[in-house]
Amino acid sequence: MDFEFAAGLYYNYFQYKEELFRTKRVKHSDIIKLINGLDNNIFVVSNQGESYCGREIKLVTAGKGKKKIFMWSQMHGDESTATMAIFDIFNFLSGKDGFDSVRKKIFDNASLYFLPMVNPDGAEQFRRGNYLDIDINRDAIRMQTPEGKILRNTFDLIKADFGFNLHDQNIRYTSGNSHKTATISFLAPLFDERGTINVTRGNAIKVINGLIHIMNNYIPGHIARYEEDYEPRSFGDTFQELGTSTILVESGGWKNDREKQFIRKMNFILLLTAINGIVDDDYENESFDLYNNLPLNKESLYDLILRNLRIKDQNKVSIIDIGINNTEEFDENSGNTNIISSIEEIGDLSNFYGTEEYDFEGYYAEPTGGRLKIGDKPNLVIKKNEQIKYKIEDGNLIHQSLQ
Ligand SMILES: [Zn+2]
Repeated sequence: MDFEFAAGLYYNYFQYKEELFRTKRVKHSDIIKLINGLDNNIFVVSNQGESYCGREIKLVTAGKGKKKIFMWSQMHGDESTATMAIFDIFNFLSGKDGFDSVRKKIFDNASLYFLPMVNPDGAEQFRRGNYLDIDINRDAIRMQTPEGKILRNTFDLIKADFGFNLHDQNIRYTSGNSHKTATISFLAPLFDERGTINVTRGNAIKVINGLIHIMNNYIPGHIARYEEDYEPRSFGDTFQELGTSTILVESGGWKNDREKQFIRKMNFILLLTAINGIVDDDYENESFDLYNNLPLNKESLYDLILRNLRIKDQNKVSIIDIGINNTEEFDENSGNTNIISSIEEIGDLSNFYGTEEYDFEGYYAEPTGGRLKIGDKPNLVIKKNEQIKYKIEDGNLIHQSLQ
């Protein structure tokens, strides 16, 4: 894979970033506006069908070469990171600058197919399932969702050499047993229980191996492997079995990137580098070593951990850690996102990590609203010798008073 090309994308990203997307709440009307504005000298747009609620699902094609690369995103309505990146890629492909020779090479040697936003009804509500709340990615066999049928029909139409199955994962996954978020997780989905590696799946692993080399420059330690379970009802496993080298990319968390704009940039770099590497056959020189040694996704992160607090009750003193997570509550009327913090775990969290951590050795906590319960909005007063008081608001530790 081409390190220099990736670096060029990294430093010039601002030129291609689609400014219409400011937050991760990408809607169908946004992408239709952008698709309608695409340069028809470069892109061909076709309507592949309609979602349950009648929203058009569009296929965007560019290039006229032999190598077929298919990318689909937002099959889960609240997983929009790659959708944003795909529109950045459209801006790159329609640019005119120092990358012109790369563009020409890509258009001459590859045909690119993009199905951004497979699940527009889910995107409208910013939720995983489709209109009936069916998980489209468990519908590859039964085929009851119009969106799943459209994805499958489009796949059959293209018969791509490479497929990129683009998702977002739990933002609190870490890369193995570390405090580092799994910002990008990869998987070459399995097509059988045994995890056989044939040529199709082997090529997917080689592409991922190359992408790990590239991503190690930008997010070292923040790359992981997605759970390796064979799931025949999912599209990735099905497409791998049908002979398209399929690569699952899961965008996870990154500190202070709630709207996923940095991770979107990483998607832009890795997807374009993959296209370029497939066109150049660079992936053929890759081994499986980095892929095989990737730490697995692990759920070992809280947004905030308060450690070693003492709780005094009925003459007993207990030493506890408190794990607190933030959830988002979107207000349609104001367009604001409110952050709700709640206590997820009380007890020994010594083998967990916090995005933020505070050590309260020597302090004791008093729950101001009665007993400390899981699910509580944290409302504690933390004291040391009656001198310092803290309150937790929206996951932030607020210094209340010095007496
Ligand atoms: Zn997903």
